Amino acid sequence: MKIAIIGGGIPGLSQYLFLQKVGLLRGRSVTIYEAREAQDHSAAAAADFGTYNSSVIGASIGLSSTGLRVLKRLDIELHDEILRAGHVIRTWRMSSARGWTLANLPVGGDDERMVMIGREVCCQILRNRVPDEAVVRRKVIDVSLAEGNNGPRLVFQDQTTEEVDFVIVCDGIWSRARRAMFRAQDLNQYEFSPLYEGLVGVGGFVPSSKLQGTPEGEMNVVLGANGFFGYGYTTVNAQGSSKAGDTAV
Ligand SMILES: Cc1cc2nc3c(=O)[nH]c(=O)nc-3n(C[C@H](O)[C@H](O)[C@H](O)COP(=O)(O)OP(=O)(O)OC[C@H]3O[C@@H](n4cnc5c(N)ncnc54)[C@H](O)[C@@H]3O)c2cc1C
Repeated sequence: MKIAIIGGGIPGLSQYLFLQKVGLLRGRSVTIYEAREAQDHSAAAAADFGTYNSSVIGASIGLSSTGLRVLKRLDIELHDEILRAGHVIRTWRMSSARGWTLANLPVGGDDERMVMIGREVCCQILRNRVPDEAVVRRKVIDVSLAEGNNGPRLVFQDQTTEEVDFVIVCDGIWSRARRAMFRAQDLNQYEFSPLYEGLVGVGGFVPSSKLQGTPEGEMNVVLGANGFFGYGYTTVNAQGSSKAGDTAV
């Protein structure tokens, strides 16, 4: 049986690891097709988690308690590595642009926490657990029905095709596979296609020394008239998961 996972982001890689955990890799071929250029997953690169620069995709991501519990169930070592690489958030502080504190919201009870972590770092921690041969750099441009057995057939950018038995769709907001499910011709306009609603987000990293007076474990959201600005630590130092490292988001 051939299973294709389209997209090697956080969900695609996690799906692979879950299939592995429940024993579904045995006797099956499971391939992740990822459109993006492979990152450097060598041990040296993995150790260099502090490298936050403008080529990093997606700035930081907050993993909620629910997400962390999922990771814990998947692999306790993976979960602990995520905690070590990110910054544990205990409180959300909401304030107004005029400097008023509107709310201090605890993330939850003692067993509830949230981790801010570089998206690329999170991806890399997952990717390091997936064998290289399971990830193939290919862009899927369509999923059609194979002649005869009516199973799914992947169509790649170079116009080659591959018939598989099962497809797991993780190719994000501009998903080619989702479009194929709705048999739509246009990538941008079909039932359930993404719709731009006027919200734009820009994210990046700064040295954590810029966050003067910001307590460790706090994520800040400053609400303005037509937008909001968020900031907080996103790495940890060697002393523990709530101690600020060098990088803030
Ligand atoms: C600004 C912003 C902030 C966010 N913050 C958070 C947060 O703090 N916490 C949180 O939980 N969620 C957050 N989200 C939501 C979260 O990022 C998404 O829900 C999640 O990334 C969706 O995963 P996905 O696998 O569907 O897509 P993606 O993460 O986009 O992954 C898709 C992957 O598929 C690959 N791909 C795309 N097209 C193809 C193709 N045709 N062929 C092969 N590969 C392909 C891409 O290169 C990519 O690697 C945020 C989203 C945005 C935009």
